[in-house]
Amino acid sequence: MSIVKVTNASVVYNKGSENQVNALLNATLEIEPKEYIIIFGPSGCGKSTLLNVIAGLERPTDGEVSVNEENLGEMNDDQLAKFHCTEIGMVFQAYNLITSLSVRDNVILPQMFLGISDKKTRRGKADKLLDRFGILPQANKIPTQLSGGQQQRIGIARALINDQPIILADEPIGNLDSKSAANVLEILKDLNEKEEKTIIMVTHNPEYLDYAHRVFYMKDGRIEHEVVNKKKKQRKVEKKNISSSRNNEFDILLKSFPGLSEAQLHLLMIPFKAKVLSEYLLTPLDIDRIQRMEGFIKDRLSGKLVKYEFRMMLDKSFEKGGVGLDERTAAHYSAETEKIMESARLLRRDFKGTAEKFNLEEFELKVKLITRYLTLSFAKNIDERQKARIEQLVGMRLKSKIGKEIFMKAIDAPFKEGGAGLDKRAVQKIARDLEVILLVNFGLEEKK
Ligand code: ADP
Ligand code: MG
Repeated sequence: MSIVKVTNASVVYNKGSENQVNALLNATLEIEPKEYIIIFGPSGCGKSTLLNVIAGLERPTDGEVSVNEENLGEMNDDQLAKFHCTEIGMVFQAYNLITSLSVRDNVILPQMFLGISDKKTRRGKADKLLDRFGILPQANKIPTQLSGGQQQRIGIARALINDQPIILADEPIGNLDSKSAANVLEILKDLNEKEEKTIIMVTHNPEYLDYAHRVFYMKDGRIEHEVVNKKKKQRKVEKKNISSSRNNEFDILLKSFPGLSEAQLHLLMIPFKAKVLSEYLLTPLDIDRIQRMEGFIKDRLSGKLVKYEFRMMLDKSFEKGGVGLDERTAAHYSAETEKIMESARLLRRDFKGTAEKFNLEEFELKVKLITRYLTLSFAKNIDERQKARIEQLVGMRLKSKIGKEIFMKAIDAPFKEGGAGLDKRAVQKIARDLEVILLVNFGLEEKK
């Protein structure tokens, strides 16, 4: 039984127009469980497209794709997202890590999509993987503080945390020096040989072809031919149990971190963002209300609800389909949500003209505006020097030069010691707000 079966799959962009692209043409292949496959070909030949089609991140224009004998074409978007989350681990050339989350939280994220709510379990799993890949000491740092090789190992840990049987790796060593590349290749080889993962790796570098059991050569959207690597003996094919996790209930559906644009990623991340934002607002509420709130925040983030509609849904009684908050609380939560969304959007807005008027760099102005928002309610009585310190730290955090922990420590420290000298309550509120803003900002489309 094959674990992946692609039959006459094509992906056509801009069909019928003069700039029609046949990214994938009539691709047919079958992959057995525990195989190591390489897809090889020049840039632009359709390798990533083929991988995305197998991953369920892109629906083919024509043809069929089955994974674990389930036809992806028959799944709706939710089912496809579940499938992606439980069956596929993806590793990318550009790592695709979220720079506002810690190393550990990046690895944990796919667990959140599974709705695994026990924090200890999630953390335990993540730390085990981080330890295995030698990056546990860096768990609390942010990804950009680590080397390329280390960042790719975070990416691999993230691809393993849900015990996905299939690893798809799109040019995973394309950005690495030769030593880190060798390390990543050894990890993938180990995962295949010792943990019996099915690996499909894309590369345009012929040096690595020996790692695979079979190599598919691609050109101009087509699979031209297939070469079996005799040195690497094909193992006997075994029947794989179809994952029972299909029946799991998921709180949140989110595809992993495809090689899509930031704007597309934002769409995919809306459920997760909604969860974080709604937990932030509603910790004291019961689960049914939180879930409903989450739904409305999702709709607000994706623009399906406008501001006042969102507020009304918070207010409306639970029986009538609302969240059932009292009017004051609804007004408060709605205002908080709007403020955070506005602050997040503010980071993306074009402020060049305004900045010039005030003789400031655009980024400086944004930092000032964000700082003003952050200090508005809890740190009103700070002096100019404290404000300047906070601005400096906010700027560093926005540029991902420091992580959340360091940011908190720094604004907490006494002024004499280089900190902002704020009280504990203000420190926590500011740090929490800033992290939520960073997360909501992630992937928002740039306003033109
Ligand atoms: P590879 O991964 O082998 O470099 P891709 O699968 O990314 O190639 O792309 C295959 C072809 O499809 C390329 O010519 C690319 O420019 C084109 N292509 C990819 N995505 C799109 C898209 N969204 N719209 C139009 N053309 C695309
Ligand atoms: Mg590619």
